[in-house]
Formats: sequence, C-alpha cells, structure tokens
Amino acid sequence: MTEFDHSVEVVTKSDIESRVGELGQAITEDYTGRDPLFAVVMTGSVPFAADLVRSVQLPAEVDFLGLNRFGESGHIGIAMDLSTPVFDRDVILVEDIIDTGLTLSVLRRMMMDRGAKSVTTASLVDKKARRVTEVPIEYRGFEVGDEYLVGYGMDWQGLYRNLRSIWAVLDMESFVEDPAVLARSLGMAARPRWAKQTR
Ligand code: 5GP
Repeated sequence: MTEFDHSVEVVTKSDIESRVGELGQAITEDYTGRDPLFAVVMTGSVPFAADLVRSVQLPAEVDFLGLNRFGESGHIGIAMDLSTPVFDRDVILVEDIIDTGLTLSVLRRMMMDRGAKSVTTASLVDKKARRVTEVPIEYRGFEVGDEYLVGYGMDWQGLYRNLRSIWAVLDMESFVEDPAVLARSLGMAARPRWAKQTR
C-alpha cells in the first residue's frame, strides 16, 4: 500500500479483483436459472459494474441510470433513466458507495413501485457507520471508515475515477487547494487547468 501525506491507498487492485470475483460468484449462485438486470448507477459505479458483470456467469442484462442529488436533504431526481422496463425483472442495483443509505432506499422503492420481481444491491464499499436509514446490501465489497474515498470509479472534482485502487483522503485541504494533488504524486502529468492556484 502506498502512502502520501495527503492520501493513502486503502484497497489495492488485487484486493478489488479478488473481492469482485467473489461477489460475481455469489450472484451467479444466487441467480442461477434467472436472468437478472443490473441497474448501474452512474457514474461512480461504472468500473465496479464492468468488472462485476464480467465475473457473473449468467445471461444477464446491463443498463444505466443517472441521478441528480439535491444537497444533504436526500432528495434525488432521475437525470437519465433506464431504457429497460423493470416490470417482473430481478433487478440488481449497482452502486459505488452506500453512505447515508438515502439514495439507495429511494432507488429500491422506485424499482419496487415499477413492479420489479425482486431488488437487491451490490455496492463496492459500505460506510456503515454513517447510515441514516437502514437499507439492506446483499452484495458488499468492502466495509470502510468515514474517510472520503477516491479511485476505481469514485471521484474528487471529477478526477480519480480511472485509478485501479481505492484511496482515502487524509488531508482534504490539500485536495481542495489542488484537486490533482494525488495525480501529481502518482506521476501523472496534470493538465494546466489543474495547476495550483498561486494567487
Ligand atoms: P448516500 O448513501 O449518502 O445517499 O449517497 C451515496 C453517494 O454519495 C455515493 O454514490 C457517492 O456518490 C457519494 N459519496 C459518499 N461518500 C463518498 C466518498 O467517500 N467518496 C466519493 N467520491 N463519493 C462519496
């Protein structure tokens, strides 16, 4: 695990590969004889979903939905809906992080209201200690603390979704001052628009 002053790698590429493989195996066993619909919540879940669905040995379908989140209130809106009807389908929601649980509880209810036969959730990480509303997570990758995470889909200011491992921010001020601070430490040439503000 690599560590810098501002952040530390908390879940490595190989940890992710083996855990996602286990989740895919569990889904394969649980859904044998069915053809689930993976409903992938954009954008943070995309790398996880891509690896997860390829480790599932079933005739599965994959579709995407995008959300608008309105502050801390827990209100969410659909920015881009699924194109596949969920009526009578076994839906597996794919999320990057379950934090307060508010987003997930709204999504689960929405899928049931649309007549889904069943709804379960696969989440890469679970910030269990921060839960505001109880919501089941049938397929959980990693339970983590309450640090802000980036990497493997998760972003800060749009950056870091393309990292292969998961990092915890140790010093948020460094990331506020220079969003590309971790990219620079990893030897990536950050574009000028990410240059440090010196004024
Ligand atoms: P909640 O469970 O609170 O309704 O919302 C979960 C969403 O909050 C996640 O899908 C993600 O977009 C965002 N989120 C929560 N914690 C983190 C974090 O540590 N890192 C990043 N990048 N996003 C987070």
